[in-house]
Amino acid sequence: LQQELNIPKEAEVRVIGQVFETYILAEADGEMLIVDQHAAHERLNYEELKKKRENSEPESQMLMIPEIVSLSPAEMAIWEENKDFFESIGFETEAMGEKDVMVRCVPTGTEDGNIKDILIEMLDILSDSKHDKRTYLEERAMYSVSCKSAIKANRSLTEEEIKKLVSDVLVVQKANTCPHGRPLFISYSKYEIEKQFKRA
Ligand code: ZN
Ligand code: ZN
Repeated sequence: LQQELNIPKEAEVRVIGQVFETYILAEADGEMLIVDQHAAHERLNYEELKKKRENSEPESQMLMIPEIVSLSPAEMAIWEENKDFFESIGFETEAMGEKDVMVRCVPTGTEDGNIKDILIEMLDILSDSKHDKRTYLEERAMYSVSCKSAIKANRSLTEEEIKKLVSDVLVVQKANTCPHGRPLFISYSKYEIEKQFKRA
């Protein structure tokens, strides 16, 4: 059982399939990988968000129908204070009256239906009044978007989705955890498996 790997990014990936609708089984560069689909997608989302912020070129997708989220006065004040941050990761929001915020655009990859949850959770994180913790809070808010917009466990994936996920994971394999610290994958070499079967 090995956690730190160095599989070449170009390695050919053979997808074996999905197990328990949560893990992906694949073979690459002489290793058998078991990928946690949620943790892996969460890390990929986070890397994307981070890149967007660094390049200050947030990539957004426009919602077909803008979503209107009702906020408490306290939440409204926090939203007001953090407009720039939201913009920097790809949200386009606008006040509508005293207690509603209209969301027009969200970071690319954010699943529909989660938007209200994501916004409220981010506001909750950002509401921590200690301003010296600014960077930390913004990171935390990005974790939350990454997690909430990631593929869930217990969801069957198409072969296309599986292939993409595994090859994307190989690109970020050095950071083999989701932002909260859960591993993206575990792997077994042929030797390790043969040892289990007393062949080696
Ligand atoms: Zn998560
Ligand atoms: Zn996580």
